[in-house]
Amino acid sequence: MPILQPLSERLLLGPGPSNAHASVLEAMSRPLVGHLDPEFISLLERLKEGLRTLFGTSNAMTLPLSATGSAGMEAALVNLLERGDRIVVGVNGVFGGRMAEVARRAGAEVTTVEADWGHTLDASEMAEAIERVRPRVVSFVHAETSTGVCQPVEEIARAAREADAMVVLDCVTSLAGRPVELDAWGIDAAYSGSQKCLSCPPGLSPVSFSDRAIDFVGKRETSVQSWFLDLSLLANYYGGAQRVYHHTAPITATYGLAAGVDLVLEEGLEARYARHEAASKRLLEGLDALGFEPLVAESNRLPMLNALRLPERVHSIGEAPVRARLLDEFGIEVGAGLGPLAGEIWRVGLMGENARPETVDRLLEALRKILD
Ligand code: PLP
Repeated sequence: MPILQPLSERLLLGPGPSNAHASVLEAMSRPLVGHLDPEFISLLERLKEGLRTLFGTSNAMTLPLSATGSAGMEAALVNLLERGDRIVVGVNGVFGGRMAEVARRAGAEVTTVEADWGHTLDASEMAEAIERVRPRVVSFVHAETSTGVCQPVEEIARAAREADAMVVLDCVTSLAGRPVELDAWGIDAAYSGSQKCLSCPPGLSPVSFSDRAIDFVGKRETSVQSWFLDLSLLANYYGGAQRVYHHTAPITATYGLAAGVDLVLEEGLEARYARHEAASKRLLEGLDALGFEPLVAESNRLPMLNALRLPERVHSIGEAPVRARLLDEFGIEVGAGLGPLAGEIWRVGLMGENARPETVDRLLEALRKILD
């Protein structure tokens, strides 16, 4: 039997991946060229420029890293931390916790500032920890996919810069769905993922590093612990006047991301953010009538990741069986809660192309049928 068998069409309304746009999939079927082919290098340059617009930055070192968002996280931390360096990490969900673990494994001295899941980090607690610890790096998550919280960035970033620390921001779920302004906020390293609001398959991590971050990497006393993610080596391929082989860039995935970024730029960032807000509003109104309640206070809710407390009706059937019916009978995937929120919430993603009224209505209709 062939390994590849037919697969079902799914409407992907979980925490990611979201559905890829048809023009992204079309781009991924174009002919392969080599990773040093001048046509591919020009495409990469245009893609880097497009990503700068999305990230709100003029950082020269902005590029699509050849791996998923977790590699972007790892790249940011292992380049900016040397063994024994101090870092303050904000932890209010799974991905802040992952940052702390990556930093620990890189040999850093990690201080965490915690907040309850479903809440934002307290900026004054972060500032107090920064003042006390005087870290090399401060890191936190802009859009915490495990809880649906949008973290206000500016106050924490300001406190970090006042203490001369570098700031790392996780933008995996926010990029292209909510404003991201790296330069205005004073961020030194940020990373995202192709599979969320960019409407591409998983596999690439757009990253951006400030000149200050690149300067630091150039002056490190020890080499970066990861050869693959060492920015000074990556720069020879992605940035050098003469492109030197580092690894074989994933050509096809890069075509897809280029098409995804083109779609964002054609639509316009403001229009895209507004579309995400409108879809979330429609979803919350529809689900309110079915007894679902948002986990997060209105001022800090993410529109692309809606965390919802489940009504009694869902608990009485069982939350996992309801999700299974959504998938089996209606082809719709939604996400379960994680950690302390497992069994308590669902995470409904309305990311990129899926942030549309038709999509919301399809989910509401299916749920009404199951819960009636
Ligand atoms: N950070 C956040 C906020 C995420 O939501 C994710 C993935 O869901 C990641 C990091 C890790 O990205 P990936 O799963 O693409 O490695």
